[in-house]
Amino acid sequence: MNTQELDKKYVLQTYGRGDIEFVSGKNATLTDSDGKKYIDFTSGIGVVSVGHANERVNAAICEQISNITHISNLYNIAPQAKAAEAVVKASGYDMACFFGNSGAEANEGAIKIVRKHGERDGEIKRYKIITLKHSFHGRTITTVKATGQESMHNYFGPFPDGFVYADNMDAIEGLLDDHTAAVMIELIQGEGGVEPQDKVQVQALEKLLKSKQIPLIVDEVQTGGYRTGEFTASQVYEITPEIITLAKGVGGGVPVGIVMTSLKDVLSAGDHGSTFGGNYLSSTAVCSVVEILNELKQSGELEKTSTYFNQELEKFYNAHKEQFTSKVGIGMMCGLRVKDAETLSSIMVNAKESGVMVLKAGRNTLRFLPPLTIKKEEIDEGFTALNTAMSRV
Ligand SMILES: *Cc1c(COP(=O)(O)O)cnc(C)c1O
Repeated sequence: MNTQELDKKYVLQTYGRGDIEFVSGKNATLTDSDGKKYIDFTSGIGVVSVGHANERVNAAICEQISNITHISNLYNIAPQAKAAEAVVKASGYDMACFFGNSGAEANEGAIKIVRKHGERDGEIKRYKIITLKHSFHGRTITTVKATGQESMHNYFGPFPDGFVYADNMDAIEGLLDDHTAAVMIELIQGEGGVEPQDKVQVQALEKLLKSKQIPLIVDEVQTGGYRTGEFTASQVYEITPEIITLAKGVGGGVPVGIVMTSLKDVLSAGDHGSTFGGNYLSSTAVCSVVEILNELKQSGELEKTSTYFNQELEKFYNAHKEQFTSKVGIGMMCGLRVKDAETLSSIMVNAKESGVMVLKAGRNTLRFLPPLTIKKEEIDEGFTALNTAMSRV
């Protein structure tokens, strides 16, 4: 049986998979089983931030796993401690980390911290967590409930109580009460359609929450790891949340989820844990990825790449204005709003044919999450292919 047949027979069909089978990659260029090349403007949904087959990350991982891959969190783990230091220092916040294996697991950890935090002082238990209607926070039972999109709440109940949805940022204040444990937001909604929040509004929310001593959780699973120009989007928005969650881009493809928090003493030994979280393999990947991205940032290369990518995206947008309504995003988390869902589907199909990978977000957004290491030639090649695709839409 070929891969597709094996998949159909032995894998639960929870994904609407494309029919391409990639067999190799180098930076932002992928090759499929027919030898056809594609420019990757998706980095595996914002994961392969340092490109495919990154030699430095691979060398670091190989050296580590030739020695120890896993021991368990019952012992000190040198690469985990170093990864925590690297992540905290890159963010500039006075925080400490917990390591899990995915974005959803990081958000679960954040929720546990604020629920326990809400128990500490006074009689009234603070348990409510306010999230936004178009948010996306994960696929576990709790994070599916934390996700504000109603369509995600089919089938799987009963869900944990205590999640309240605000229609938008303005509506959050009216929902705060004595039982509010935290507000959890994405600064740029990813799955919701590349929707950046207004900076002034976010800063006002931060101030309001601080005055009420309600922790702010920023879900940076998609925005973290220099995607928006700084290590966290919270730095771009110039706020200091109590909790930041990270995952996708910080492991370079190795599964990792991180909760960073200034609420360092809420959880005690035994309150939370993970068998795999922060093991030698994934922590080594985080150390290497963050080191590479720090260098990219400090050399000015990240800024240059982001400027060039956005300039070319703007040109592309202007050349096809009859199909798009606006250009959105920050840094290398970008999108083009397409005039309707049908046109978007046609662009997706033709982009693939033309040899460039792009993503869909929300109902009508063409989403771009290129590797942060993407080369000028790869950007040029990708937009040439996209222009060809548009001529067939
Ligand atoms: C992808 C994503 C998640 C879920 O991450 P998983 O690793 O799939 O569990 C949560 N929040 C945001 C903002 C995401 O983009």
